[in-house]
Amino acid sequence: MKPLLRALALGWLSTMIASAVFAAEVKVTPLGGQEGELCPQDRALVFEDPDGTRILYDAGRTVAGPDDPRLGRIDGILVSHMHGDHLGNAHNKAPDSGSCDKPDVSVSALPNSNSVNIALAKKAKVVTGSEMPPFFAGKLAAAGGDPKDSILARFGGNVMLGGVSIATVPAFHSNGLDPDYIGGELGKSMKAAGIAGYVGEATGYVLTFSNGLVVYLSGDTGITAEQDLVVRGHYKPSLAVMNIGGGFTTGPKEAAYVINDLVKPKAVIASHVNEVATREGKVLPGTKTEAFVKAVSVPVHVPLSGRTMSFDSAGKCVAGC
Ligand SMILES: [Zn+2]
Repeated sequence: MKPLLRALALGWLSTMIASAVFAAEVKVTPLGGQEGELCPQDRALVFEDPDGTRILYDAGRTVAGPDDPRLGRIDGILVSHMHGDHLGNAHNKAPDSGSCDKPDVSVSALPNSNSVNIALAKKAKVVTGSEMPPFFAGKLAAAGGDPKDSILARFGGNVMLGGVSIATVPAFHSNGLDPDYIGGELGKSMKAAGIAGYVGEATGYVLTFSNGLVVYLSGDTGITAEQDLVVRGHYKPSLAVMNIGGGFTTGPKEAAYVINDLVKPKAVIASHVNEVATREGKVLPGTKTEAFVKAVSVPVHVPLSGRTMSFDSAGKCVAGC
């Protein structure tokens, strides 16, 4: 090929690749308790960047251990805080075992946790904030993994995993480490005294993907001033994953206020519903999920297990919603 022609062809090719990357979408796949439904224990979401980087957020109990075939390759694991329904003190026997209401989470993941077992098997990085990284480093090392795979992203900073920037933001919750993860005489004494291990504050996350999409993951939280000043004011997410279950976190009314008045994303994925929210993939009347959908002024996407949703850079769901 003549040099000029080759230069033109290369120029055309790089323009095509650049526009393909820019137009590329972020895929979000819920790994819940029952295929096609939203169930009480569901927390886990897999985010896939257009560059192929795959990040698991709050594995919890519905990911059936590291051998769950739905996981595929996992590069990074996020844990918002140490409670058993997020870290994973136990997990499903297999995908879809038990029912939506009563999942069979009879497999103990103690003392490691579901998150650590998945990190070990997938050789994934565990990215956490606050005082949590030393816990994960210790667990990885004790099980023959690399403690350097536990990475700190403390408030205000960020780390890159592939093309994804990961930052942590405050969550107003609690974050005690159950003595079951500590074990031995110390664990027993702590259990008897009713005290938990200190691992710093609970966190939320802000992920910025290579196509420009910014996503706020609330973690377990109440209403916080930072949702306005820090999350919206600085990071400006166009998509949010928001806890709506009430009792332990914001309920539907409070969560709707966070979305409508504080974070103001273009769309939101409801999470941590702590109820049987759907039947045959449709939101059930009288549920907290229905109340949240009605109270929010932007599109609410219901994360049905196994159903991949694709989002463009502006937070618009372009497929699977
Ligand atoms: Zn929780």
